[in-house]
This record gives sequence, C-alpha cells and structure tokens, in this order.
Amino acid sequence: MSSSHFAVLGGGISGLISALRLAERGHRVTLIEGSDQLGGLGTFFQHEGRTFERFYHCMLPSDGPLLQVLESLGLTSEIYWKPSSFAYAHQRAIYPLNTPKDLLAFRPLPFLDRLRVGFTGAWGRVCSAKGLDDISTAEWLRGLSGRRAFGTFWQPMLEAKFGDSYDDVPALWFWTRFNREKGESKGEVKGYIRGGYKRITDAFRQRLTELGVTLRMQESIQQVDLDEEGRPFIQTAQVRLQADHLVLTLPWPVIRHCVGDKLRQQATVPHWNIDFQGVINHVLFLRRPLTPHYWLATPETRYPFDGVIETSTLTDEEDRGTGRHVVYLTKYLHRTDPRYLASDADLKKEWLAALQHLFPDLSPNDVEADYVFRAPFVEPIYTRGYLKKRPPEVLVPGRVSLATTVQVYPVVTSWNGSAIQVQRTLDLALP
Ligand SMILES: Cc1cc2nc3c(=O)[nH]c(=O)nc-3n(C[C@H](O)[C@H](O)[C@H](O)COP(=O)(O)OP(=O)(O)OC[C@H]3O[C@@H](n4cnc5c(N)ncnc54)[C@H](O)[C@@H]3O)c2cc1C
Repeated sequence: MSSSHFAVLGGGISGLISALRLAERGHRVTLIEGSDQLGGLGTFFQHEGRTFERFYHCMLPSDGPLLQVLESLGLTSEIYWKPSSFAYAHQRAIYPLNTPKDLLAFRPLPFLDRLRVGFTGAWGRVCSAKGLDDISTAEWLRGLSGRRAFGTFWQPMLEAKFGDSYDDVPALWFWTRFNREKGESKGEVKGYIRGGYKRITDAFRQRLTELGVTLRMQESIQQVDLDEEGRPFIQTAQVRLQADHLVLTLPWPVIRHCVGDKLRQQATVPHWNIDFQGVINHVLFLRRPLTPHYWLATPETRYPFDGVIETSTLTDEEDRGTGRHVVYLTKYLHRTDPRYLASDADLKKEWLAALQHLFPDLSPNDVEADYVFRAPFVEPIYTRGYLKKRPPEVLVPGRVSLATTVQVYPVVTSWNGSAIQVQRTLDLALP
C-alpha cells in the first residue's frame, strides 16, 4: 500500500473524516487545526461540569453516511432518538405545523392558501429535482403556493435564512432541505449522543491517535501553495510544512484568502467568489421549558432571531442537568452585518426582551445563564445555477483536493453532508 504524506487542513467534521479515512488506508496523515478544539461548527463550551454545543446540533435517521462513521467509531449505542416537532409563531400565538390537520388549522393563512401550502409540501416530496438548480426557490414556491401564501408563509422563512439574497437561492436548495427534514413517514425523530457532540470528537481524537495521525492544534494556516517542484506546502504562523498531498477542508472564504498564486493558477475553479452566510446563537439555560417543540420559527421582523430551538426537547436530563432547559435563539446573517458585530451585552438584552414578548411569563429569574456564539462561515449564499459554480473535488491532480461545505450542495449543509462530500472527494482524488 502506498504511504504518501497527506496534510488535512481543518479539524471540523470534514477534516476529521478525511484524516480517518486516509489513515485507515495506510497513509501518513497530519491534521492541522487553528483552534484548540476539534469539531469546527460542532465544538462545545462548558457549563457547570457539562459540555454543550455552541451551535445546536442533532442527527436525523436519514443521515446514513454519518451514522456509519459513528458506528465505525463504536458510538452507535450512545445515540438516542426522540420525537421532534415544528411550530410557527404568529402574532404571539404558537401554531404547531407537523400534520395535515395542523396545516388546516393554521390561521395565519386564509383557508385556500393552507391547501396550496399543503399541496406544495406534497408535490415537493414527489416531484423530480431536474432543472430546480436553475430556477429560484421564490419563483418555484410562488408558482406552487401562490403569491399571497408565498409572501405570508415562505418568504419570511427564506429571508430569515438568507436575508436580502433570498430571491436568488435555487429551488434545488429548498427541495433537498425540505425532503431531508420531512423524510420520515412515521413522524419526525431526531437524534443526539450521550455526552454531547464532544463525545464524537473525543472518539475521533482517540482513533486518529491510535492510527498514528499527527494532530497539530492551534496552528493557524496563513498560506497554501505549490513550491518550484509543484509540491504543496502550508505556511502557518509558526512553521512551513511540506506534504505530498493536501486535503483542504477549511471554510471556502478562508481557502480563498490563503491560496497562493501558483496554486490559484493551477486549480480549475469556476468561481472563487462564493460568499458565505454567518450565524449567531444565543444559548439560554432556563429553569422552565418554553414549548414542547424542537423548532419554533419566529419569522416576524419584530424578532431579532429566526427561530427558537429548544434542544432539551431532544436531550436527556443526564446530558443537560436536572431541571435545566436549553434553548438556542438563532440568527443567520452576514459577518459584515452590524447586528453580527453588536456587543454580547446589547445582544443578550435585546434578544431576551424579544423572547419575553413571545413568552410574557418568562422572567429573568427563569434564566440560569446565557452565552453568545458567532460563526462567520456557515454555508454558501447559494445563487441560481450553483451546480456550475461549485468548486471541484480535485484542484491539482495528485496534489491538492477539496472536501468542504462549499461543495456539499445540493445535499443539506450538515455533518452528514460533509461525510458524503469527503467520500466523494477521496473517491475522485485517490481512485
Ligand atoms: C447554527 C448551526 C446549526 C447546525 N445544526 C446542525 C445540525 O443540527 N446537524 C448537522 O449535522 N449539522 C448542523 N450544522 C452544520 C454543521 O455544523 C456543518 O455543516 C459542519 O460542521 C461543517 O463541517 P466542516 O468541517 O466542513 O467545517 P467547519 O466545521 O467550519 O470546520 C472548519 C475547521 O477549520 C478550522 N479553520 C478555519 N480557518 C483556519 C485556519 N486559517 N487555519 C487552521 N484552521 C482553520 C476551523 O477552526 C474549523 O475547525 C449546523 C451549523 C450551524 C452553524
């Protein structure tokens, strides 16, 4: 078996699975991560002796490739599943939206529009995805649900996710997302792992170490390029490292920034300029529950967040603490948006007040603690015809490959999407 030296750049789930698969094939692997934690967007913080995700995370039963990786790490028995539900806030009322009966009772829409939204859902599950990359979600949904239902129901949810860019997001993005979320015939369930996502990254760390992978933590990559002989090298703040082959798993805007001239010239990339959406999560530890729903959409503009995700509806008390309810308020937005740059103190105050508007009986005494986390690079701001813009798996044959979120589309951005992408990249890069 060949034993080239691979450098995997980035220690999020894409980097972890890449390193695992390469080491299992007998290659020498060095993984380089800029922060002090493995797991990327799935990293954790500590509160009263427990760990919690900075950004809400869960699994779906349809996450087959990810679940296989977790099985290979011996974690299957640690995953548990619970029913999950969705609701929609409108004028301070909360409407569950999980069954056809719920939709028929959904008062924010006139009755005819409820039927059209129901039809959109049913059609979305059976229609072909062909051609959907080239038309916008807005156009597709307007056609199926009608202008009025689009404006009241779909548009605020799209705006919540993509802001002003919502109008150009391809219908294929919506189609895959919709089908992933609603893929269960016997009601939705979602999965979590005992001990939280840290359990997963700890298992990776142990297995990678057993396989001889070198983990270089807290080494921020500044440049990636090819030397005079065409061999890749990496410049970190501390050292210059050489490798036979690089697997880049960093967020695309970081890659774009780090790529040197020679590599940029040799790589066949149709569009370097793919911008990314960022996110803020405000995590609240409460002494009382808010709703029985995992996800409560809050699309009205009076709320500074897009949704209230009550992860404690999925997690056991053993994993979060007796009597502790965990709620994530989430807002997707660009890293240059003034709201992204607001101070934690201002943000906490404003967001808690907005939450109290929706739950007037929520008192400050109900809040045990709260934290704010931001991530500048979550997923691409998709535009029509994205499949033609998507960067390829192999940037320089035999030298530089790419396995990162910018390519996951049309699969939903998720740990499972990354597991699929890594497999695709390694199959093409190392046939
Ligand atoms: C709010 C939120 C909720 C989510 N919910 C879910 C969910 O429920 N289920 C699910 O499956 N997925 C969920 N996701 C998506 C999931 O987190 C991502 O799809 C996935 O983590 C992407 O993994 P990645 O390894 O490609 O990238 P990242 O996780 O972004 O990892 C990139 C890594 O590169 C490192 N890095 C960056 N720059 C440098 C540098 N210059 N030098 C060295 N290292 C660097 C970073 O520190 C990071 O570790 C969610 C994401 C967010 C933000």
